[in-house]
Amino acid sequence: MAQSLLRPGTLSSPVRRGTVRGTYFVQTWGCQMNEEDSEQIGLYLEELGFVPAANPQEAHVVLLNTCSVRKKPEDKAFSFLGELRAFKAARPEMVIGVAGCMAQLRADEIKHRNPFVDFVVGTAQVSAIPGLVEEALQSRRFAKRTDLPERKGSVVTDIPQRNVSRTAKLKAFVPIQYGCDKFCTFCIVPTTRGRERSRPTEDIVQEVRRLAEIGTQEVTLLGQTVNSYGKNLAEGRVPFSKLLRLIAGVPGIRRVRYTSPYPRDFKADVIEAIRDVPQVMEHCHMPLQAGHDGLLARMKRLYTVESYAQIVADLRAEVPNVGLTTDIIVGFPGETDEEFQHTLDVMERFRFDGAFMFKYSPRPGTPAATMEQIDKQVASDRLDKLIKTQQRIQCEINEGLVGREFEVLVEGPTPKNPNLMQGYSRCFRMLHFPAPADFRGELVTVKVTEPHLWGLVGTVV
Ligand code: SF4
Repeated sequence: MAQSLLRPGTLSSPVRRGTVRGTYFVQTWGCQMNEEDSEQIGLYLEELGFVPAANPQEAHVVLLNTCSVRKKPEDKAFSFLGELRAFKAARPEMVIGVAGCMAQLRADEIKHRNPFVDFVVGTAQVSAIPGLVEEALQSRRFAKRTDLPERKGSVVTDIPQRNVSRTAKLKAFVPIQYGCDKFCTFCIVPTTRGRERSRPTEDIVQEVRRLAEIGTQEVTLLGQTVNSYGKNLAEGRVPFSKLLRLIAGVPGIRRVRYTSPYPRDFKADVIEAIRDVPQVMEHCHMPLQAGHDGLLARMKRLYTVESYAQIVADLRAEVPNVGLTTDIIVGFPGETDEEFQHTLDVMERFRFDGAFMFKYSPRPGTPAATMEQIDKQVASDRLDKLIKTQQRIQCEINEGLVGREFEVLVEGPTPKNPNLMQGYSRCFRMLHFPAPADFRGELVTVKVTEPHLWGLVGTVV
């Protein structure tokens, strides 16, 4: 549809509201924050009069929203740029911009290796993209915008306003905080996204209200350390638990999730909100990263295995059905067999309902990249062992859930079997079940009949 409106290679230059000027394509790598930024980029481009293209070959404006958390997505972005080179040679009027964490970190290298790129824009400059596209259409001079906001005294005033999609979405992500102040030794995020800054509470609540008005029922609040939300606001400190309660009170919002909390900042008031507020879901994705205090100290994670264990114990005591998931890194510099064994032991002890498990990837510019690295094969073998351990635990947990009933928000047909619908439980278990298509958006109770590694199959009761 959209791409047939104009032939590839023809651009309409007048800026007239409601006029289609061309097509755009945004390629995204990385986390939910990047996905959110990409949606904002799309909304900006649509305001300029561009409509989505099915693929980059025929798009008039192509944006790459890049990720630097590991080497692989950076390699993919450079390889994608390699493909774009030929398209741009055939259609020099095409506009190509690079955004995201890699743009923040490696702007000059991106331009040097890919002189055909029109602009590079950093993580805090997404709102500059419409102007950069207009400039590129007119002057074809390379532009770079990679400033990160400074923290001004103790109050942050430079958080950009966000657009809200007019397309109805059952579930939506809502960034509440940008950047990070923790400086874990393996992580490039404080460099790529800058210091921690929270969005004003009223802006967030307004955005959620607008989402609810167009049919959104579930929101996931996003932040690098989402539960440290609320510092340096002009309105004074707002605890994360208060924000959870405010969002839960927005009419039409039935489910509130958040990701990812930082263990040290996970306090009793948040546990009480999960326990007491029906709209706050009983799920917590709390990155542990390693199961040995020496490793945690080298990672500069500001907690110990036992302080993490205390949060898990408190959470499970107050919210018995809570789903607990985590992130683990293996092969961190200097990780010994004994330290890795502690991580395996901790997985058996906490019995997480799910885990993202990664092999450590050195990020230039981080302290851990200069530490003594361990053998790559050893790290790969450890990752295999960890994944097998976690998969066995998950299978055991899921087998124990047969016969249990879960409240599920019906999202739509499963991709592999359109006869089955799918949705998540409150504690973030994926369930598949037969149900009519018009159940989408309904809360149903599903009784588990079959356990699987990925989730559960059941029937609506
Ligand atoms: S808490 Fe650590 S791992 Fe998470 S974004 Fe901040 S520095 Fe990175």
